[in-house]
Amino acid sequence: MAEVYEIKDDEGNVLEVLAADDEPQGETAGEVPTEVEPTDVEPTAVSIASRASWGARYQDGDLTLTGLAIEVWVHHSVTAQLSAGASIAAEQEQMRALESVGQTRFGTGISYNVVVFPSGRAYQGVSWNRRGTHTGGRNSTSRSICFAGNYETNQPTAAQISTAAAIYREGKQRWWTQGAPLGGHRDVSQTACPGKNLYARLDEIRDGDGSTPPPPDPGGLVVDGFWGSSTTRRVQQELGTTVDGVVSSQSVAWRDGNPGLTTGWQWVSDAQGSRMIAALQAKIGMDSGARDGKIGPQTIRALQRYLGTPVDGIISRESRAVMALQRRLNDGRI
Ligand SMILES: [Zn+2]
Repeated sequence: MAEVYEIKDDEGNVLEVLAADDEPQGETAGEVPTEVEPTDVEPTAVSIASRASWGARYQDGDLTLTGLAIEVWVHHSVTAQLSAGASIAAEQEQMRALESVGQTRFGTGISYNVVVFPSGRAYQGVSWNRRGTHTGGRNSTSRSICFAGNYETNQPTAAQISTAAAIYREGKQRWWTQGAPLGGHRDVSQTACPGKNLYARLDEIRDGDGSTPPPPDPGGLVVDGFWGSSTTRRVQQELGTTVDGVVSSQSVAWRDGNPGLTTGWQWVSDAQGSRMIAALQAKIGMDSGARDGKIGPQTIRALQRYLGTPVDGIISRESRAVMALQRRLNDGRI
């Protein structure tokens, strides 16, 4: 019986199951090269970072496959959930982690053909013409598009959907047949994969023409020193809190004294604080007892110290602290 690797949640639900197929009898079986020529040497409409770019260390699947695939399956990896603003280095590290999983279980390197991160960036896993361990019983006849993370509990980003649609379109008559259907792993295996939130979006991958503009460059924020909704969205992406551009339940007492805080700030008389500000307070090193989720002089001073700008406890118009924050966000960090 072929080896199987299941990833379960706390309740024992199978979120993902990886499986190696038995060695087929016949001419495709046999010698397993440890390196093969990359098949993506032609320029592609969609950019897929090479195996070398992320530092693939192990074997590239277990068999060379000939001919076009007849099916495409969408998966999720149930590994770390990176933010849309994650750095390339962080994504490369996740690729190596994913490779370690497949290597440990099956000894044939990374399981999936291509892995798409919340940023919208895509990385080559097992080469298109090599057999992986993604879709049990169908590894020889199908190819896989994997979303990095857990989409039973998280939402795929628009950038991920757009990239996956572009890959599906790009692969027609190249990696799979023109009419190769695209489905979710759960359609053919006992697993929640690719998660209900992603499964609900498969039509967008099937029908999308991949022409949606790529994700906003992490460098997309205007450095103007005003903290409005677009800056908040990027902070939320970096901190992994809900991305809605709103800083909820902040004390109205601090509104007029901080004119650099503009759109998306919810000023109320009975402030409860926001999860994003609490996460920011942790990020900038405030004591756990002081992480109340509210902006105010204490938090602003801590932020200014963290950013290395003058410490006065106020976010003015064209604030130097906010400009420093926007520059850091444009570098993909806080
Ligand atoms: Zn799967």
